[in-house]
Amino acid sequence: MAPGRGTAQLFSAGSVPTALFPSTSPSDRDPPRPEVYPVPSALITGITGQDGQYLAEFLHSMDYDVYGMIKGQQNPRAEIIKTEMPYVELVSGDLQDLSSLIAVLEYTQPDEVYNLGAISFVALSFKQAELTANVTGLGVLRMLEAIKLVGGADNPIRFYQASSSEMFGKVRETPQNEETPFYPRSPYGTAKVFGHHTTVNYRESYGLYACSGILFNHESPRRGIEFVTRKVTNAVARIKLGLQHELVLGDLSPKRDWGYAGDYVKAMWAMLQQDEPQDFVIATGRTHSVETMVELAFKAAGIDDWRDYIRQDERFMRPAEVDLLVGDCSKAKEILGWEPEVDFEQLIAMMVENDMALESAKAGRQA
Ligand code: GDP
Repeated sequence: MAPGRGTAQLFSAGSVPTALFPSTSPSDRDPPRPEVYPVPSALITGITGQDGQYLAEFLHSMDYDVYGMIKGQQNPRAEIIKTEMPYVELVSGDLQDLSSLIAVLEYTQPDEVYNLGAISFVALSFKQAELTANVTGLGVLRMLEAIKLVGGADNPIRFYQASSSEMFGKVRETPQNEETPFYPRSPYGTAKVFGHHTTVNYRESYGLYACSGILFNHESPRRGIEFVTRKVTNAVARIKLGLQHELVLGDLSPKRDWGYAGDYVKAMWAMLQQDEPQDFVIATGRTHSVETMVELAFKAAGIDDWRDYIRQDERFMRPAEVDLLVGDCSKAKEILGWEPEVDFEQLIAMMVENDMALESAKAGRQA
């Protein structure tokens, strides 16, 4: 069992969570874990994604054995994990294949399963709707079924489902909290709603310790380039370095509640350490338009005449848009003691700085 389990509140309200989430090596922590203490283990699906990587680092810092599920024989992204996180043991499995999930659980015997694997890009989900429903939606059902079968009676496996603010879609109220009705606007959103309700249903039907974290958009230097924040910070860096001359975007008016992924994975873990499984909204409570984000990114690079570089194109517009998201994470604050540490301005500055370094290094290599 993981350290800290059964504690109602993991962070005292207003405290600095880093005290509870040590950046020091496990051996520096106090009190030291006795030799006989069983090492907790976690299985992460979606290990090669942004959240999978932050979560693996975080769990490793707390002395977990970390397994990452990976799909396919020649997955090129596996190399990143092997190189940068050699402590993660990669295991082969696919959210589309129940028997592979059973085999992965039997081999890893995890205390905790974090289901982060998904077709997660909303724009792509419109083009590959059936695949999205299968992986992002039915994949949750398959993993829960596998946990039910492998964990047996008094099931010891705790399950985290990566639910999404995209489930709120055409929002029914503002801000959105755990009670806000869903109104998804994309195949991704509808698949996530299925995964969310399935998680609740397995908790209620079979007594599984299953939680759903409804996370609002969360970004970082590790964010995929297809998502708007990273697309923008990368383009800003390239424009600043004279490597690119325009930035082509879709709708600039949608508003999002953007937080830092490194903060959000801590909330995932905290959800699995409570006495009772529950669902939580994780958000910053602040919202900004895409346009404001673009302006901020350019300004972080010292470019004021940013509008001169922007062109809009239908290609990046969606069949249905989510206009406004802003989350109310009071429940997480109160019960988990969780609060975001990195604010929006710091996040965008961090991403621009990282892309400046990456792009200048790349340009240097090519020169
Ligand atoms: P999402 O909230 O999960 O869809 O995250 P994204 O980062 O993909 O998109 C956030 C918002 O930015 C959405 O409302 C998009 O329509 C909008 N947007 C505007 N231009 C672009 C673009 O070029 N790429 C992406 N990914 N989003 C864009």
